[in-house]
This record gives sequence, C-alpha cells and structure tokens, in this order.
Amino acid sequence: MDFDVIVIGAGAMGSSAAYQLSKNMRVLLLEQFAFGHTNGSSHGESRIIRLTYEQDYFVSMMYKAYAAWDRIRESTERNFIHKKGGLDFGPPDSPRLLQTIKSIEKIGIKFERLNAKEMRGRFPNFNIPGGYIGIYQPDAGILNPDEVLPFLQNQAKAQGCTMKDEEEVLSIQRLREGIKVITSKGEYTSKKVVITAGAWLKNIAEDLGIKLGYLQIWQVAFMYFKQRESVDSPIFICWEEPVFYGFPEFEKDGYVKIAPHFSNKIIDDISKRDPEVNSELVKLTTKFAERMFPGLNPTPEFSERCLYTITPDDNFIIDYHPKNKNILFCGGFSGHGFKFTALIGEVVRDLILTGESDVNLEHFKIKI
Ligand SMILES: Cc1cc2nc3c(=O)[nH]c(=O)nc-3n(C[C@H](O)[C@H](O)[C@H](O)COP(=O)(O)OP(=O)(O)OC[C@H]3O[C@@H](n4cnc5c(N)ncnc54)[C@H](O)[C@@H]3O)c2cc1C
Repeated sequence: MDFDVIVIGAGAMGSSAAYQLSKNMRVLLLEQFAFGHTNGSSHGESRIIRLTYEQDYFVSMMYKAYAAWDRIRESTERNFIHKKGGLDFGPPDSPRLLQTIKSIEKIGIKFERLNAKEMRGRFPNFNIPGGYIGIYQPDAGILNPDEVLPFLQNQAKAQGCTMKDEEEVLSIQRLREGIKVITSKGEYTSKKVVITAGAWLKNIAEDLGIKLGYLQIWQVAFMYFKQRESVDSPIFICWEEPVFYGFPEFEKDGYVKIAPHFSNKIIDDISKRDPEVNSELVKLTTKFAERMFPGLNPTPEFSERCLYTITPDDNFIIDYHPKNKNILFCGGFSGHGFKFTALIGEVVRDLILTGESDVNLEHFKIKI
C-alpha cells in the first residue's frame, strides 16, 4: 500500500483530517485545485464561531469544538479564535431564536437576554426594531480560514503528509485488499479513504454507488460595506426570515462583512454553478444593511461567491460507506461547519484509527 489513508479534498475538513491523521499514519492529501483556492466553501477571512444553536446536540458539540481549538492552541501556541461576543436577535416570535434560547438554557450556557432598547443602547450601530428580543453570548467570535487552512496544511506537511494539489480524483476502486484512487495525474493505493469533497461529495458518492439525492448546493455570497465611523461590535445573526449574519470590522480596515444565510440559486450538481456573484443576494443584503446599519455606506464595495452543501435538516454527514467501512464520508456541513473544523479532524482520526468517536454522531448518518 502506498499510504495508510488517502484524504480527498483539502478544504477545512480535509486539511484538519490530514493534520490529525498524519501524526501517526502515512497520509496522502489530494486537492483538485491549487491549495488556497476560492472555488469551494473554505475561503475568505472570517467565519463565526458560537455556542448558540437551535439544536441542543450542536450546543453540546460546540463545547467539544472549543476544546479542540484549545488543544491546537496548547500544542502549537496558535490561537485561532478572535473573541468578539455574539448577538442573536430577531422578532419576539422567531421560532429559530426561541428554540436557540431553549437549547442554550437546557445545556446551561451563560448568556444575557436583551430587549430592543437595551440592544440599541449597547450596540448603537444596530437599528434594532422595537419589540425585537436578543441574546448576547460572550464566547462567540471569529475564525479566519485564510489563517487556519495554511496552518493545518503546513503542520500536516511537517508531519510527513504527502500533499498533492491540482490533481483531481477521477475514481475510487475497491481492491481485494485496500483501495485504489485514480487521479488526473496518477494512481495510489491505501488501506482507507476519507472523502471531504464539499460540494463535489454527491458526484463522488454516486461513483461509489451511493445516491445522496437530498444534498443541495446553495450558491451564496458575502459582501463588505464601508463604515462611516469605526465602531466595534459583536458578530451577529438576525433571525428574521430570511436570515442575515455579519461581522464587525476585522479583515478589511473600515469595512464590515454582512451575508445572507440563504440562496435563491440552488443547484443539484456542481457543474451547473454560476461563474458570477449572485446579484440578487447582493441586492437583498444591501436592503438589509441599509435598514439595520444606517452608519454604513449602503453600496457594498466588495463581494465574493461561496458554496454551501446543504442537507435537509442541516445535520452533517459523517459516516462510513454502507458496504465498505474503509471509506468514510465527511460532508454536508450546510453552511455552518467551519467552527467544527478542529473537532472534525479529531473525529475523523478516531474513526479511522479505532472506529469510534467520543462525539455523538447519531445525527450524521448517511440517509439512503
Ligand atoms: C459564505 C459562507 C459563510 C460561512 N460562514 C460560516 C460561519 O460563519 N461559521 C461556520 O461555522 N461555518 C460557516 N460556513 C461553512 C463552512 O465554511 C463550511 O461548512 C466548510 O468550509 C466546509 O468545508 P469542506 O472542507 O467540507 O468543504 P470545501 O472547503 O469545499 O472542501 C472540499 C474540497 O474538496 C475538493 N475536491 C472536491 N472534489 C475533488 C476531487 N474529485 N478531487 C480532488 N479534490 C476534490 C474541492 O476542490 C475542495 O477544496 C460558511 C460557508 C460559506 C460558503
């Protein structure tokens, strides 16, 4: 066997898996584009990390995720969490906000309840409508993919991982012993394969006889708006329908980032992807920004496209091939996976090494 494990896809999840697995295994990490590309879901300079979730099991899992980022900090002295605090707010009858409050109360997360007047007093750059409710949670913050991914890839390389980019996996074949992976540049054998292929997961699964028809690809975007005056504020999620979220000034001086957590351009196959930023989303986000943040220049000066791989219930897919336990699928992160990156690397390592994980994965089974 050339390798113990081959990891397909060097986005957040594949890079984290390669980092953990290459600590004690011979690993090959394959990527179809150049490392650091912006064609998938793990580019850009900011992602929200938060404990506030509708689903109580995600709240519990986030405790483990923060601990996994801490383990990276302890072992490498690199702290990736930029704490800013987080504000979840919305109409008083917002089912998703009310469910979030229920879940964090159940798990015992510390937070503050705020009414519209208190939110406007504390965060004057937000034009919070009367009657709205909110929760402030101090542990929320920002992760920067353009910091995290090179770190994970460099650490993996330093641990002996073989890294090959601009090499597309074309097929995966079962051998009497192990697996053969055929790429656009060669072929490799290994005992196990981990598929962290993001929006391309469905195509690869289909080649392996697994139909993931319920996976959707959302073409989303994020935009940067110039602040007339620099104001520090928390990350936020506005639980109106549709949902918008955003960041204080972070990666671009003088600019805040706001984005829609929805899409009007949903495709079932990556080959149907639009080359341009989704202009309808830019229009809708501009309207939201104008209404909620009067201190911003209403016209976004930068915008970028990105992809969500969505499951119907926003649960991930972390599960073995039903007929071959040497193949592990890891995807469907539904627009909210980045905060789990450090933990997912550990989960994949444990599933490959021992077949078990101390993370409850019951919600992440393949549904066929
Ligand atoms: C705009 C936006 C905002 C987001 N905001 C947040 C947030 O605030 N908080 C949060 O927690 N999460 C957020 N997310 C979600 C998070 O970024 C994703 O869940 C995460 O990055 C998914 O990582 P991935 O490794 O599964 O996918 P990807 O990064 O897409 O990686 C898959 C990789 O596989 C490669 N690949 C595919 N097929 C092949 C093949 N045949 N051969 C070789 N390589 C292949 C691809 O090229 C790609 O590099 C956001 C996502 C987007 C798009």
